[in-house]
Amino acid sequence: MAEMKAAQILQKYDGPPVRIMEVCGTHTHEIFRQGIRRILPAKITLISGPGCPVCVTPAGFIDETVSLALEHGCTICTFGDLVRVPGTSMSLADARGQGAKVRVVYAPADAAEYAAGHPEEQVVFLSVGFETTTPASCIAVEKAAALDNFSLLTAGKTMPAAYDAMRHSTDLFLYPGHVHAITGTGICEKLAEEGVSGVCAGFTASELLTALAVAVTRFEKGEPFFVNCYPRVVKREGSPAARRLVERIMEPCDSEWRGIGVLPMSGMKLRDKYARYDARRKFSLPPMHGRSNPACRCGEVLQGKCLPRDCSLFGKVCTPEHPVGACMVSGEGACSAFYLYG
Ligand code: SF4
Repeated sequence: MAEMKAAQILQKYDGPPVRIMEVCGTHTHEIFRQGIRRILPAKITLISGPGCPVCVTPAGFIDETVSLALEHGCTICTFGDLVRVPGTSMSLADARGQGAKVRVVYAPADAAEYAAGHPEEQVVFLSVGFETTTPASCIAVEKAAALDNFSLLTAGKTMPAAYDAMRHSTDLFLYPGHVHAITGTGICEKLAEEGVSGVCAGFTASELLTALAVAVTRFEKGEPFFVNCYPRVVKREGSPAARRLVERIMEPCDSEWRGIGVLPMSGMKLRDKYARYDARRKFSLPPMHGRSNPACRCGEVLQGKCLPRDCSLFGKVCTPEHPVGACMVSGEGACSAFYLYG
């Protein structure tokens, strides 16, 4: 019932034109998959944002993983999507073709467990993601306390700097519910006080329709707002235990976002106390500044500046089978969502 009412509110919306940034790649895919885009009137525009962890990981990080695998002989453990993301000269899948050991795991703890069972191998877990996934990497570090053959290559990121960088690209944010289950809603409330509106959304059709309906209804009133439309999971205080765990093991650092550049203090790295688990230090990796295919417009897609189909490679040269950029590789990427459902 609530779902139908929300859908009707959206279909009948006749207020001022509004751009809503789906920060999270899972939201982009779910909105497409549930057919929600099809019912929106022309006055409501959905734009993609920088919330797909694989998409925002820069080419230089892939170059680091390839170096660890091929030059240092490490076993790379990673979530599946990263394997096919192109680096400057190759992806991890290409490196595997040259003999690199690359294992797909479903959790950082699986990588630590593999390291425990294979003491003859140096195992590196690729720690990418946002506030939601970083705690699991920290748990893996604690689990690996007795191991000297396990380390992380960190590229974890935090959302507040991204919100700040994107605040002028949209009229309001559709905030990612899973991130704010950890961080709480303080940052969203602060942004609303500064004039940046948004709603926190869950992932079912009902939750997404409700969040979008609340967003346009409040937007029409003309005052900045924040509404938590995912209260069954997102609490104002978030998860203090998860934040304490991360703070104990990691600290903020500057971080490069694909197509956006370096955002100050938007990344997470291991504290000095945990340096022996830091693959960059352990293997003395030099700084790597990767290059992406210059025709790929992932950077603009991730900032809502263009749609995937505005890219001349979309669906022709670049497809999920033969991806040119990260946004087509990832199961959360905007380009793959437009290709699959658009
Ligand atoms: S369609 Fe492919 S090449 Fe174009 S922006 Fe998306 S990922 Fe990059």
